[in-house]
Amino acid sequence: MVENHPSPEETAALGTSESEEPGISHKLRQAMESLTHPVPLHLFIDPEREDAVVHQGRALLRVFEQLSPKITLEEHRLEDALAGTYGVDLAPALLFDPDRYRIRWLGMPLGEEGRTLVEALIMMGFRTTALGDESRRILERIDGPRDVKVFVSTSCPYCPQQAVNAVKAAMERPDQIRLEVVDIQLFPDLAAQYGAQSVPLTFANGVIIGQGAQPEELFAASLEALEEQSIYIPESDASEVEADLAIVGGGPAGLTAAIYGARSGFRTVVIERGPLGGQVATTPVVENYPGFTQVGGKTLVDILVQHALQYVDIFPGEEVLDLRPGEPLELVTTRRRFRVRAVLLATGASHRRMGAAGESRLSGRGVSYCSTCDGPLFQGKRVLMVGGGDSAVTEALHLHHLGVDVTLIHRGEVLRAQEHLREHLERAGISVLFHTEVQEIRGESRVEEVALKNNETGETFTRQAEGVFIAIGYDPAVELARKIGLALTPDGYIDHDERHRTSVRGVYSAGDVEGGYKQIVTAAGQGAEAALAVFEDLVNPYWKRTPPGPYPAQPDTDASRSR
Ligand code: NAP
Repeated sequence: MVENHPSPEETAALGTSESEEPGISHKLRQAMESLTHPVPLHLFIDPEREDAVVHQGRALLRVFEQLSPKITLEEHRLEDALAGTYGVDLAPALLFDPDRYRIRWLGMPLGEEGRTLVEALIMMGFRTTALGDESRRILERIDGPRDVKVFVSTSCPYCPQQAVNAVKAAMERPDQIRLEVVDIQLFPDLAAQYGAQSVPLTFANGVIIGQGAQPEELFAASLEALEEQSIYIPESDASEVEADLAIVGGGPAGLTAAIYGARSGFRTVVIERGPLGGQVATTPVVENYPGFTQVGGKTLVDILVQHALQYVDIFPGEEVLDLRPGEPLELVTTRRRFRVRAVLLATGASHRRMGAAGESRLSGRGVSYCSTCDGPLFQGKRVLMVGGGDSAVTEALHLHHLGVDVTLIHRGEVLRAQEHLREHLERAGISVLFHTEVQEIRGESRVEEVALKNNETGETFTRQAEGVFIAIGYDPAVELARKIGLALTPDGYIDHDERHRTSVRGVYSAGDVEGGYKQIVTAAGQGAEAALAVFEDLVNPYWKRTPPGPYPAQPDTDASRSR
């Protein structure tokens, strides 16, 4: 966790509420006012391309310049001599302290990317990257130049984590690392040159080293190896953190459990390998969370995170690699060890793959599992959305509203999605092909055509499409549970009792990883229940009160009544 300045999650929370000036929180103002080192920014503009994006970006940068005496913004034209000095030939381009670092933004850090901007300004203004020791060691070993490009979009909640990884690396090793964060929508030619059609997508020296957001150490290891790494084992002298309750997973279940755990008086930590919020962060619109008739998934996540941060420490971008039962239990992450009295697994679920021919080869090249992230890239283009549940219909509507020509492909006869969503779909005039399955996704270097089959008539046919979005449900994220031998249900979810106790003492579960209804509100409810159960068990251990037996443990009537 970042100790001496706001963490990424705190940064996420910085831009909201609290102050008289709209959009600028008291915390953000304080952070900017306390910067200790100059952060010169140079914005290069092509006067021919002065559009709304440039105006908004410039206005945002001016706000930061006013917030901190250390931040200065100079504006130049592409034809100015300084562009030649710094080798700037595309605009808009934002250079950060270019005499010290080789970090530039192609585009404007708006929308979700505002978070990366804030992180970058804070890191540069304090001249610290807050990199973990492991990552620093890996980066120190890099002995050749790395030309890094991270393609991002302003609507992608995953992107800031990856962009910040890259900024940290480029700050740490300016001698070897040159970074361009590229707004994929503003620079389609550059994206086409790299064959990039999803975000975040990271290249180093022309090869892909990361699809999606990576934990910091994995990013550093991939950058060193010039190849995407999927696992990183930390060295043994990793630091240790003691706590009462460690929650693995920062979605609605984990964050709610964290609030309850901390309010019960327990030192509670949340460890999350990816962006906080889980699936909700990429849900375009949520209409069934009590208290909100309609709220963006990411907005809901930001509110939850802000609430949780009032009580708990969040360790973002850290992956739990091992969990050793005992008293205390020990969790080993990519960055450190946690010694705790209880662990709550709220690891959620990950996008289900269809398994069709061409799907993985063209993943990131037109095949996408995140309409929030990648949808804007397909404006005016034809795409297929596969699935028939709430996710597929919500996302098809989102794409439609973005101006994408979307057709829903459903293998069944009736959509599984709620009536309300089905009505929306019909009203929007989105066409649906029922009884249709994807056989193959075709294309040389990007999606061009999809082979389909009518499973009723057996007829096969093709559709031209530039994108295939897949929303066919989720598989529970049980790698860690499997590794430590937790009992699973026949459907592959974590087996648990009514108090969310799993088959290993001290380990609890909550949320989508348990199966069940998989709603945001039920996940939050399960998180609260599990945290209360942890509290009761730690205060009054059931295993000391009753002879050990098969889980689920013996009911505790007093505790049951207290709920
Ligand atoms: P889901 O409800 O499990 O639906 C998956 C859909 O994909 C089904 O229509 C299924 O077809 C189809 N499918 C599954 N495997 C397939 C394959 N291999 N090829 C083609 N089609 C396939 O998944 P979901 O829509 O992602 O929703 C998951 C959960 O999240 C649900 O409980 C949902 O209510 C919830 N959710 C909630 C919200 C919200 O609260 N705002 C938003 C989105 C989702 P069949 O119908 O033929 O099985």
